[in-house]
Amino acid sequence: MSKKHEYGLLIDYEYCTGCYSCQVACAQEYNWPAGMGGIRVNEIIQKLPKGKHYLTYLPFPTELCVLCKPRTKKGLPPACVKHCMSGCMTYGAVEDLAKEMTKKPRMVLWVPK
Ligand code: SF4
Ligand code: SF4
Repeated sequence: MSKKHEYGLLIDYEYCTGCYSCQVACAQEYNWPAGMGGIRVNEIIQKLPKGKHYLTYLPFPTELCVLCKPRTKKGLPPACVKHCMSGCMTYGAVEDLAKEMTKKPRMVLWVPK
């Protein structure tokens, strides 16, 4: 019997520009009302010395993410992955994504419950 693969999203937030395209793409794909959706781009402000601040973005799926099953069943990439111009997000088998994750810091692997 062949092994069943679990699928997930690998998010490389080092290159996230905070453009919110992933959030908008998900909202459009599933007609989410304002304030709801399968992914949320979080702003993180780090305090630096001398009163300076560093702004970074962390896109992270929510409990509403269905991993775009209607799209992936047809061989299409998830809407958020397709619309991320920075190529921050990768959809795939968890075991492959976990190997990719070891190659650099600032990555998170998300797997739906
Ligand atoms: S995988 Fe699909 S459902 Fe999940 S956040 Fe991306 S666009 Fe939304
Ligand atoms: S589309 Fe890509 S670059 Fe834009 S906020 Fe989402 S993850 Fe970041």
